[in-house]
Amino acid sequence: MFFPIPNDVRDIIDAYEKNGFHAHIVGGPVRDYLLGIPPHDFDITTDATPEETKRIFHAERIIETGIQHGTVTLLKSSTPYEITTYRIDGKYLDQRHPESVTFTRSLAEDLARRDFTINAMAYAHSSGIVDLFSGQEDLKNHIIRAVGVPEMRFEEDALRILRALRFSSRLGFRIENNTKKALFSHAPLMHALATERVMNEFHGILNGAFAEDVLKEYRTPLAEVLPELACAFTEDALPLNASSPLTKEKVTEGREAPPCQEYAKASDKDTLFFCRFVALSYRAGITAEEYVIMCDRLHTSRHLRDGGAKVLSVLDLEVRTDYDLLKLLSLLDKELAELALELLIWNKSAQESVRGQLERLLTEGRPYRITDLAVSGRDLLPLGYQGKQIGDTLSLLLDATMRGEIVNEKEALLSYQKG
Ligand code: ATP
Ligand code: MG
Repeated sequence: MFFPIPNDVRDIIDAYEKNGFHAHIVGGPVRDYLLGIPPHDFDITTDATPEETKRIFHAERIIETGIQHGTVTLLKSSTPYEITTYRIDGKYLDQRHPESVTFTRSLAEDLARRDFTINAMAYAHSSGIVDLFSGQEDLKNHIIRAVGVPEMRFEEDALRILRALRFSSRLGFRIENNTKKALFSHAPLMHALATERVMNEFHGILNGAFAEDVLKEYRTPLAEVLPELACAFTEDALPLNASSPLTKEKVTEGREAPPCQEYAKASDKDTLFFCRFVALSYRAGITAEEYVIMCDRLHTSRHLRDGGAKVLSVLDLEVRTDYDLLKLLSLLDKELAELALELLIWNKSAQESVRGQLERLLTEGRPYRITDLAVSGRDLLPLGYQGKQIGDTLSLLLDATMRGEIVNEKEALLSYQKG
């Protein structure tokens, strides 16, 4: 098997070998090559210590990013490459951090500390694939399986539970039975995880092409860390299949993946995550106030907290008349309004006709923003309006237009005002 690794990576590996050491790409990139996906970064593992690495690459830029864990970053043609010395992790203190790490000269030991068989393969152009745990077989069979005894691995690091779900959601792979059993029984250990790490993994889970399957199947373990949302992880509540332009763009990388699927852009993933997170919150019946409390507990971004809360609060409004709908549009910017509408349509209590109603309003060019009005502040100045009066008057005119009391034409608006 030959992988088209970039020349810089090849040069790094060659430099180690010329100096009597070994180096391989490891984990993600090997898995991705085997899946036919171009890797998004190249982690390198080596038997050289960080000091030895610094000596070999003394002429290059090296950043000591995590030297106590044996990781340095080598910059080549301005691309950063993380290089980690083979290591054995010591006892884990808090379900997350190994108390100590020990460097080893054995690649086998380094691969044994990795989480899943599909992530525990190494490759170098000189030696080919090193696959000690049947990772290729599991990859072929679409299986996520812990390396070693799954109970022990989840005890060491409970984040692996969420990582398993993330890979399952991204690739559409099923989690092997013993690993799955341990995942359920050890889920409470996730309480010890920092919320930022939980959210980081949940971001990946929600963005996966198979998110719905994973949320449904793993509702119970996920409820340990996301109790507020878990009641929406059911067949009839999940809104992820809706036809929204914001939510339907699934990122398929594994099962049924085209042979050369690129990684989705980060910004697309953020939008998808935002919409799905808010959608689940809505289906879980969370009010805007409860949503803010949840986001604060989870230390989410301000964008997710405030944007989501705005959408949820607008959804509490009743949408029946044209005016209701225009009002909703006026309260949100375009992206949030689209999401709010999609959620309204999903909600079985809302009329299916909302979409048609919206299309009609937009075709008719009905205004819902001050800037949509056929008059501006400048038109009001000759009539003697000043300062705050201008804004108030425009709001009044907009409201009257939205109610259908006047048409959005300059003359009509000005004479309505005078009258
Ligand atoms: P991605 O495409 O999401 O980056 P990845 O497999 O590269 O996938 P990373 O989080 O970048 O995942 O981790 C790199 C590698 O380090 C993994 O492939 C795995 O071998 C190992 N690894 C990462 N996190 C853990 C963990 N919590 N426990 C054990 N091994 C881990
Ligand atoms: Mg990676």
